[in-house]
Amino acid sequence: MPLPIIAVLGSLNVDLVTRTPRVPSAGETLIAGGFSTGYGGKGANQAVACARLSRRAASPSAGTVEVRMVGAVGVDEFSGGFLDSLRRDGVDVRGVRTLGGGERTGVAVIVVEEASGENRILVSPGANDRVEARPLLPEGTALAVFQLEVPLEVVLVNARDAKARGVDVLVNPAPAVPLPDELYEGLGHLVVNESEAALLAGKSAEEITPDSDLTAVAADFIRRGVKNVIITLGSAEEGVFYHTAARQAEALPGKLVAAQKVQVVDTTAAGDTFVGAYAVAVARNRADPTKTAFDMDAAIAFANRAAGQTVQRKGAQSAIPWVDEVPEA
Ligand code: ATP
Repeated sequence: MPLPIIAVLGSLNVDLVTRTPRVPSAGETLIAGGFSTGYGGKGANQAVACARLSRRAASPSAGTVEVRMVGAVGVDEFSGGFLDSLRRDGVDVRGVRTLGGGERTGVAVIVVEEASGENRILVSPGANDRVEARPLLPEGTALAVFQLEVPLEVVLVNARDAKARGVDVLVNPAPAVPLPDELYEGLGHLVVNESEAALLAGKSAEEITPDSDLTAVAADFIRRGVKNVIITLGSAEEGVFYHTAARQAEALPGKLVAAQKVQVVDTTAAGDTFVGAYAVAVARNRADPTKTAFDMDAAIAFANRAAGQTVQRKGAQSAIPWVDEVPEA
């Protein structure tokens, strides 16, 4: 049987990270504490998460799902290494266009102030802004995964195309902007963190907590046409809330699933790992003819265990675990 295909349509950014004891004032030059580069961007991070969480570290070419990255890079000193790195993780990059005409790969310049641990980030979208608003998903896609670091029109056109083709759709609306109604209609999976949930629901961040009426918040998305709503609440104590159209139809409330209790080192890419792990569970379920219903609790628990590994490591893509590094339930 062919493997189910997850297509991740989104951004590829190179992270240029400078650590500094303090941020220089205007006109001042400081010697930094250190410099590193890394591959990132929500699209690429989620593609890597999908690939690693369906593969063992020792055999990236053999996975339980096929992962296709769709996006764009420029012709510059970064793009070749970036695509090679994705390939080494088992991601198929035939859907990533290399744009000429002087266009550059997306770059995030990140300044980390060591004393406070605070980040200052400047993103130059470059080629990500030039992804074309036309159907781009590969033939045979089972699940299409979108974020919002490429133009919204690209997401709308491709989500529309996916739904028309019977492809399941997951939207992780980050960075969040108000979304048109059509994106919610027939949407398979909406995965949001607290602040994204607040913005989309027109509420304040304080209104999205484990103690607030998250069933009512999710019910509003379900009424607009979403089948599964997942709200990640961050820490282990708070966990992940989910609600589904099926539960709502039976007048059941949403559910909270606990996250992993772990020693947190760096939460970068935690959300992207969660999305990737959950997407793998969804795609595998769609491809399995013996399973009648999707086990949402198991999918979220797997995603929590995977993201729980990411937060124990420094870095973005480098922190995302392979499936054999995720602890058993
Ligand atoms: P980011 O933008 O940092 O990638 P996010 O804000 O989109 O993340 P969060 O809700 O902070 O997403 O975290 C996503 C998931 O990562 C959580 O649902 C959980 O599984 C895991 N996670 C995050 N923080 C912690 C923590 N402190 N302890 C254990 N797990 C965590």
